[in-house]
Formats: sequence, structure tokens, C-alpha cells
Amino acid sequence: MGEPPRRLDPTMDRASAAVVLRCEPRQVGPCVRCRGLTVRYGQQAQPICPACTCERSRGQGRAYDQ
Ligand SMILES: [Zn+2]
Repeated sequence: MGEPPRRLDPTMDRASAAVVLRCEPRQVGPCVRCRGLTVRYGQQAQPICPACTCERSRGQGRAYDQ
């Protein structure tokens, strides 16, 4: 079913990350799990990045409590 979402490096600039995440640069922030960039603020805010969400749904990696 395709490639898992790519993890965005925390050193990546917000403008570039925003393009990948399809959000505004001001909405970009670090994932609480891996510190990679994700949509942290705004209406579609996700505290966990797409890459971590994908891993969790596949049952890989550490269990994550809230
Ligand atoms: Zn993450």
C-alpha cells in the first residue's frame, strides 16, 4: 500500500515542511514522539507526526501512551 510517510528532520526549515505537510509554516512543530516536524498547531493539529502515526497503526516501535 505504498511507502510510509517520510519523517521530516527537525532541522528542516518550516516553510519547506509546511509544503510537505500541506499546512501553514506557523502550524509546524516537533512531533512529541520523534521530534520530527509535523502539524502541531491549528485545526488539524497532530501531536504525533504522520510517520509515527503510521508506525503505530502497523504495531511497530514502542507503545505510546497519549
Ligand atoms: Zn514522529
